[in-house]
This record gives sequence, structure tokens and C-alpha cells, in this order.
Amino acid sequence: MTSKQTTANTTSPIGIAAKGYAVDSASTPFKLFNFERRMPAADDVVIRIHYCGICHTDIHQVYNEWHMSKYPMVPGHEITGVVEQVGSSVKHFRAGDHAGVGCMVDSCRKCHICKKDTEQNCADSCLTYNSTELDKVTPTYGGYSNLIIVKEHFVCKIPKNLPLDAAAPLLCAGITTYSPLRRYKVDKHTQLGIVGLGGLGHIGVKLGAAMGAHVTVISTSESKRDDAMKLGAKAFLVSKDDEQMKTAANSLDLIIDTVSAPHDVAPLLNLLKFEGVYCAVGAPTKPLEIGAFTLLMKRPTITGSLIGGMKETQEMLDFCGKHNITCDIEKIEATPETIKTAYDRTVKADVKYRFVLDILNAFK
Ligand code: NAP
Ligand code: ZN
Repeated sequence: MTSKQTTANTTSPIGIAAKGYAVDSASTPFKLFNFERRMPAADDVVIRIHYCGICHTDIHQVYNEWHMSKYPMVPGHEITGVVEQVGSSVKHFRAGDHAGVGCMVDSCRKCHICKKDTEQNCADSCLTYNSTELDKVTPTYGGYSNLIIVKEHFVCKIPKNLPLDAAAPLLCAGITTYSPLRRYKVDKHTQLGIVGLGGLGHIGVKLGAAMGAHVTVISTSESKRDDAMKLGAKAFLVSKDDEQMKTAANSLDLIIDTVSAPHDVAPLLNLLKFEGVYCAVGAPTKPLEIGAFTLLMKRPTITGSLIGGMKETQEMLDFCGKHNITCDIEKIEATPETIKTAYDRTVKADVKYRFVLDILNAFK
């Protein structure tokens, strides 16, 4: 390690003591959880966590909605903080830097998928929580905790002009929407539809607008219309209003569907132009139902997208720095009770537009 002294808790021969909030099962409340992070290696960055966003994925995982949850679970993958210490081979970070960690903390880095800078799709990728390290044994614990130790390759730089609290959700919600916008070359000629104005959706609107697209928000109710326009949308459709949806048929080049719950995609596909693209980023618990004739007649591309690679995540953060884009957040104290209330409100789509936990103050 460098001569920089860590202030990160007491150390023991096997690891560094850390604390966070964990659940022991899908039906038990959050509790204070003491655990150990690994001793930092030469390529590791030690980050004091300041903020962590609450992504809907945390909720799916805590409640085992995807039937793949491992407990105890410390959720959280929208992490920002300050570097406390770096290993001897770390090149791009030093103590005091603003750093971010998203949904993954490692991958094999050798396969053709990693070589394409799409580590998130690597068969061996290690997620930030509810996963294991590359050894397939050591559990990973996420950002509802006071510190995290991550290989340099999986740490991002947060541009200095972005506040650490409102930047935190960029590490998941930001990259998840940025990546397909770039893949489908969104620009001023693009008629873009964003379905669901939640954490992902609201940042998708800002990013799409900054790329020059004409953005239409498709939401379940009229209530978010004004917000959508303030975020940069030019049009707004209420998905439950058949007339509105029919009038807008065949108008969109690209739809990014961020909806977290099972829903009917047929009316959404009807909005696409001939050979338009429907890209799912939301992960509801039920399979999508798509009629054969929609496929035959419209020849749409039906696709999906998982966060983004590390190179693209840094590119997204730099884009946000350049355009001064951050998330609209409700910053809250981090306690087991406030997390539960935030989960309940997020499920009801009652958040403007992302809860962010004040981690630093919780674990002072
Ligand atoms: P969120 O903040 O809860 O937003 C989801 C939005 O979906 C809501 O605000 C609501 O928007 C809409 N919605 C909710 N229930 C609905 C229903 N029954 N029918 C139609 N629309 C409904 O969630 P999020 O954090 O943005 O995450 C969204 C989804 O993306 C989750 O499933 C999450 O796991 C997934 N995700 C995927 C990736 C990836 O890499 N692909 C990354 C992060 C998250 P309106 O009020 O406007 O209708
Ligand atoms: Zn997420």
C-alpha cells in the first residue's frame, strides 16, 4: 500500500472491519450488520462511502422476487464516496478523489465479452452484492455500508462538478439508460420513448434530451406530465389512455422500457415505427408477451440491455459532468426504518425520482 494512512476502522489479519445494513431473509427487516472487507491488494482502491442510491433492483433482490437472493444481503450498487487509500499498483486514483462504484466489482477480464469492454455480460462477472468474488465463495456486500474495497478497473471517477449525492444513481440508473441510447445512436433525429418515469426513466429523459432526441415519456398516470417536461421531454403519453396511445402509433424510433412490474408491451410496440427498436431495461418478474403479428408486420428489433461496461460508465459520467446532469433525488437518513419506508414508496412509484441514503452520517 502507499504511505497514505487508512482511517478505515480497525484492521484484523483477515480483513478490515466494516458495517452496514443487511437483511437475513426476504421477510425480515434490515438490521445493523458487522462484517469484514478483504485486506486491500496492490490493485485495490479503498473507498469511504458517502451516498448510496436505492435502485428498484435492491427491492427485487431483498424480497427475492427473482429467486436468486443470497442472505445475509447488504444491497446497494449506486455508490459514491471518497478514496481513502490505494494499493501500490493503482494508477488513476489517489486519496481524496471522488469515486463511484456501480453494479459490478470484478469479471474475468479475459473472455471475448470482457475484451469488448462489456464486462457486465461476462459469465464470471462479480456483482457488487448478492454475488461472490471471482473465487465463487467469498460473498460480496454492497453500498448500504461504510466502506468498500474494489479493484481499480471497477472504480469510476466522479467529475468534480457533480455533487456526490445526486451523482450516486448515475452509477446504475445513469449507465443503464446511457448505454442503449449510445448503442442505438440517439441524436437530434431520434424520436425516443421512455416508458416509466422512475429512477431509470427520469435520468433516461435527461440523457436523451442532452443527446438532442425528441423525448416522449410514457407513464401510467397524468401526474408526472409537468415533471417530464421539466426534465426535458417534449411529449407525454398516459399508457392507460387507449386513445392517446393509438394517436401516437408508429411514431417512435426507439423505446427504452424501464418498468419494474409486469405490464402489457403490445401497446408500446404499437408506438414503434416500422423496424423500430424496443429495448427492455426493466426486469419485471413475468415474461413479456409479444404477439406474432406485431413481429411480422412491424419487423421491430426486440432487445434488452444490462447496465454498461466500465469504459462506457466512465464515458457516461464524463458526459454528465460536461452537461451538468445529475439525478433528482430525495436524500434520506439511512436507518433500517427509513430504508423500509423508501422501499414502500418506490414500489408505489412515489419518489422524485431516486432515494439516496446518507451513508456517511449513518456510520460516523
Ligand atoms: P422505479 O424507480 O421504481 O421506476 C419504475 C417505474 O415504472 C415507476 O416509476 C413507474 O413509472 C413505472 N411502473 C411501476 N409499476 C408499473 C406498472 N405496474 N405498470 C406500468 N408502469 C409501472 O424503478 P427503477 O429503479 O427505475 O428500476 C426499473 C426496473 O429496471 C427494475 O425492474 C430494475 O430492477 C431494473 N433495472 C435494470 C437494470 C439493467 O441493467 N437492465 C439496471 C437497473 C435497474 P410511472 O409512474 O411513470 O408509470
Ligand atoms: Zn440498479
